[in-house]
Amino acid sequence: MLLKKSKDQKHATGSKVKKGWRLIKRFYQDYVAPFKGKTFTIWVLHVLFAVALIAPPFLFKELIDKGIARKNLHLVFCIAAVIIGVFVFVAFVDKLRSFWGHVIAQKITYNLRNDLYSHLQKLSFRFYDNIKIGELLSRIIDDLNVVQEVIYHGPENIITNGCMIVFTGVMVFYLNWKLALATLLIMPAIGVCSYIISMRMFEGAREVRKKKASLASRVEDNLSGMRIIQSFVRESYEMQRFDRENRGHYNSRIKVIAPMSWLFPLSILILGISLTIAISYGGYQVIEGTMTIGTLTAFIMYLQRFMWPLIAISMVSERVMRFLAGIERFFKYMDIHPDIKDAPDAITLKEVKGDIQFKDVWFKYDKEVILKGINFHIHPGETVALVGPSGAGKTTITRLIPRFYEPYRGKILLDGIDIRKIKLRSLRANIGIVMQDDYLFSDTLLNNIAYGRLDASKEEVIEAAKQANVHQFAKEFPEGYNTQLGERGVKVSEGQAQRISIARAILKDPPILILDEATSSVDSETELLIQEALEKLMKNKTCIVIAHRLSTILRANRIFFIENGQIVEEGTHEELLKKSGRYAHFYNLQFNPNSKIILKQRL
Ligand code: ATP
Repeated sequence: MLLKKSKDQKHATGSKVKKGWRLIKRFYQDYVAPFKGKTFTIWVLHVLFAVALIAPPFLFKELIDKGIARKNLHLVFCIAAVIIGVFVFVAFVDKLRSFWGHVIAQKITYNLRNDLYSHLQKLSFRFYDNIKIGELLSRIIDDLNVVQEVIYHGPENIITNGCMIVFTGVMVFYLNWKLALATLLIMPAIGVCSYIISMRMFEGAREVRKKKASLASRVEDNLSGMRIIQSFVRESYEMQRFDRENRGHYNSRIKVIAPMSWLFPLSILILGISLTIAISYGGYQVIEGTMTIGTLTAFIMYLQRFMWPLIAISMVSERVMRFLAGIERFFKYMDIHPDIKDAPDAITLKEVKGDIQFKDVWFKYDKEVILKGINFHIHPGETVALVGPSGAGKTTITRLIPRFYEPYRGKILLDGIDIRKIKLRSLRANIGIVMQDDYLFSDTLLNNIAYGRLDASKEEVIEAAKQANVHQFAKEFPEGYNTQLGERGVKVSEGQAQRISIARAILKDPPILILDEATSSVDSETELLIQEALEKLMKNKTCIVIAHRLSTILRANRIFFIENGQIVEEGTHEELLKKSGRYAHFYNLQFNPNSKIILKQRL
């Protein structure tokens, strides 16, 4: 049993090491190899730095034994000058390796961030449905900070300290092998202590990262929902939830601090013991006349240069593991393949007429089937209103047209072409979407509208703004179209925000328009202005409107009444009312003032 366990453990460690090597190899090939010349030069500088630091103790030995002891002042000054020269060289090498090493590390991290961001942009709505943005942010920023730190300090630590240990080890044995043996007996203790401490710190650091990520996601969630928290007076409830996360983070930090606080006291103790052995036994040899005072001085200097690198290098495993954990998560995100992407033979659309067909479309987000065999054909220039109870699947239908999600059965055709055979950029460029709560960026009003078409001239933007009835309020803004909107700028009302997003769509001027009509009530004058803007926007376009207003429904060429993921009725308003079916019932409840009065009386 024991044998089996240890075999299993060996196997697990073996596969972890293999995995670690695979990650490092991939990281090297993808990100370090482009800078291999510079990286190699920096590694050579690390070696030079260590070599140069070996010289001073030996020079001090010569200075004491041959200069001071023999009262040769000329030699004292000469050796002192050489020592200064060596330190100037050390400082110069250190400056070079530090500057270029950090620059390369920054460049590699810059590339990592760019690649990750570019990849995240390709991932579909489904990925973002299942991810906590706060957690993702914390992972990207924290993990990549660790990676960046290790890219420079990892090799620096291993190469410089490795060289120092080898060179100073050789020197102490060269100077006095008996003294070297006596003082270095304590060495294994340093190795074992530092290794145990670094492992504890690594375990703790993993916990810290997890807790930090969940704290970040709680903060993100709460700050985004602060208005709801305050309106439901849930501050103390949320404070408790926040405190739980914060405490978890605090406790995890303490777990790292505990082993860390042992590191230096233990190192100082061990160094103190070995220095005492060196001074006592070395002093004895000096008194006996078997060793010079200069050799003892040099020996003690080498001993210190041996101990500190030994402590530092035994901590390297912790850094390497943190680095591996960081790049593992980085590659985990990079390896998520976008579930919606261009087919190899995808085409770019030229002239789009706006003919949309759903053929037996079935869709689910998770397990539950949301759309159950949707069939329809919308002709170019037609306006179709999607009407139905909440949660029926209206928004979902509209999300499938720009391929934000993919149906698991059936197909969708645009101008007779399967949308999976159209390049995503081309498909989406031909569809304008105006949602109830379209996002306004923290940018100028001008740029917010120009988002619809980045190459539009200022005149075109203003023309779109005029058509969307934005111009009236834009003129009132302190800096007109250059007024900053959003967090650090002017706050716009709901009605104004809707008109800005309509202006965006007018500027884009796509042949197909998807419109989620606002449910929120605005005053009747604003309502009129929005209606007017929408009418201009919808002209000569194929429009699919998730309709909440009677006026839109009446103006639509056809109405699809959606219930429980199916189109249960289809026709014009009059036709459907005549039918006295589900739509008529819904209409009476929703829009007919008489039936509302009757309903109230019944209640
Ligand atoms: P409403 O009029 O209230 O906006 P709707 O008819 O537009 O409703 P959809 O938004 O299409 O309805 O939602 C249909 C169903 O799909 C609902 O049960 C909803 O909970 C579910 N749903 C919507 N979006 C997602 C998502 N991103 N992940 C999982 N389920 C979702």
